[in-house]
Amino acid sequence: MSAVEETPVLIIGGGVTGVGLARDLALRGVPCTIVERRDVNSGASGGNHGLLHSGCRYVLQDVETAAECMRENRLLKQMAAQCIEPTGGLFVAMNGEDLAHAIRFEEACGESGIDVQKLTPEEVLEMEPALGAGVLAAYLTPDAVVDPFRLAFENLFDAMAHGANLMCFSPVEAMDVVNGAIRDVTLRNTATGNIRHVRPRIVVNAAGAWAGKVAQLAGLSLPMVYSKGTLVISHERIAERVLHRLRPPADGDILVPGGTVSIAGTSSLRVGAPDRLLPTTEEVDMLVREMAVMVPNFLKMRLIRAYCGVRPLVGAENAADGRSIRRNFVLIDHAREGIHNLVTITGGKLTTYRLMAERTADLVCEKLHHPVPCTTDTVPLPEHAACQWSEPGRAPRYWMKAQQAGDLLLCECEMVPKSAIDCILETLNSQHVPAGLKAIGVRSRIGKGPCQGAYCSVRIVSHMYDRRWLHGRQGSDDLAAFLRERWKGMQAVLWGEQMRHAELQEAIHCGLFEMEHPLP
Ligand SMILES: Cc1cc2nc3c(=O)[nH]c(=O)nc-3n(C[C@H](O)[C@H](O)[C@H](O)COP(=O)(O)OP(=O)(O)OC[C@H]3O[C@@H](n4cnc5c(N)ncnc54)[C@H](O)[C@@H]3O)c2cc1C
Repeated sequence: MSAVEETPVLIIGGGVTGVGLARDLALRGVPCTIVERRDVNSGASGGNHGLLHSGCRYVLQDVETAAECMRENRLLKQMAAQCIEPTGGLFVAMNGEDLAHAIRFEEACGESGIDVQKLTPEEVLEMEPALGAGVLAAYLTPDAVVDPFRLAFENLFDAMAHGANLMCFSPVEAMDVVNGAIRDVTLRNTATGNIRHVRPRIVVNAAGAWAGKVAQLAGLSLPMVYSKGTLVISHERIAERVLHRLRPPADGDILVPGGTVSIAGTSSLRVGAPDRLLPTTEEVDMLVREMAVMVPNFLKMRLIRAYCGVRPLVGAENAADGRSIRRNFVLIDHAREGIHNLVTITGGKLTTYRLMAERTADLVCEKLHHPVPCTTDTVPLPEHAACQWSEPGRAPRYWMKAQQAGDLLLCECEMVPKSAIDCILETLNSQHVPAGLKAIGVRSRIGKGPCQGAYCSVRIVSHMYDRRWLHGRQGSDDLAAFLRERWKGMQAVLWGEQMRHAELQEAIHCGLFEMEHPLP
């Protein structure tokens, strides 16, 4: 098939920036289509720390980013409350660290208007007993935890309810530029092989770390720096609040709670390309070592998985590592390079996605001569039933309260019932996403608990056969692909309890089901 479709705005990239922009435009009455080369949140939006920054982390070296984070932190707690756990944060200086840095931090927060409260070491240990004995100084901050999957899907569903479209598994492969404008965009559906042509009035490049590659398709140069960050997940929730080391930003200095687990991170490593990256055991070792300075028990914790993402940082090709490049966002009107209907939005933070969308939509509306203002700062993000299942710790509460007769648990670690799987499967068609374990995993907690999919994957595949979502060999291929994906995260943490678990998993899948290939 090679039909030509028209859309006022084509958004390239289904991360939180792309879907946030789609919602902003849709609420202003501008129809748009998002195209995503894989599934929603398959870039940095699905591989980050989930910290809703208060601005404190940047307050000493990047006041502008700090101010943006602070404003968006306050706003999102009101406008997207269902996606946020308002845990609060603690910035903690440990023995041996520079107390002068703590004093500068307190002053800078005051100057920037970020509410922080000084605590004594005794107070802080009472609040977070997992902290080590060597606390020198500590501040309570308004940091919080955000569920990046729920945030993206709530934005997507509201955008779609207001007329936006999404095409997943549809990478943009070419752009035809005629007389200073992109006239035709070629997409290839990677599931069917079909080619589609889209004729947009405006194209927004929201491709995150791939923004440079997308710009190249239009014959433009957009130098990007790729900063890989690795994170590791503990089997238990270690602290109630977000814990930060109070020192200049460095590796392994943040511990973010996520429902029943904690996530330690991150690192910042310059890499040459944003694809095919895996967390390594060396990175996990480093994170464990650094984290243990603040939380000594981290050395003994069972770690269930590691993952990594790539930060989209623009420019500064000579910077030694990603940390020295500012974390603010970049909005480029490519009219200045001769292409009048192309805009790029990249960089920034998950925390500032709404602001990035607002500024981009302002520019798009100006180009379309459509002077309608933004409303995402005053209209709360509605809750959609299919979005609740990615929230860590939500499923057990649901199961205890609202369980219906005959509604079996398919994922026992994260307590995801059959009804949740059905609810998610019903939504996939409209997103052009094939039914399968990976798609369900992006939209729920299946496979994310300690068993890493060992038991739930088989049950869910059987359920999909029962409901005729899968046919023929589809189930075993899907199972293999899902387990391979989980393996990528487990291979960097294989010692102690998790090693024993991996051996059990191998026995189940290879011994019982003769699936030699999932664990290469
Ligand atoms: C390790 C790490 C930790 C982080 N932690 C935090 C944090 O705690 N708090 C915070 O606020 N921020 C954090 N960030 C930053 C945050 O994750 C990103 O700023 C944000 O997710 C970027 O979203 P995006 O939509 O712009 O990009 P992405 O999420 O990367 O989305 C870009 C999308 O474009 C798609 N795409 C690429 N090429 C094409 C093509 N040719 N055709 C179609 N689609 C295409 C990709 O598949 C991808 O889905 C972190 C980032 C990393 C890497």
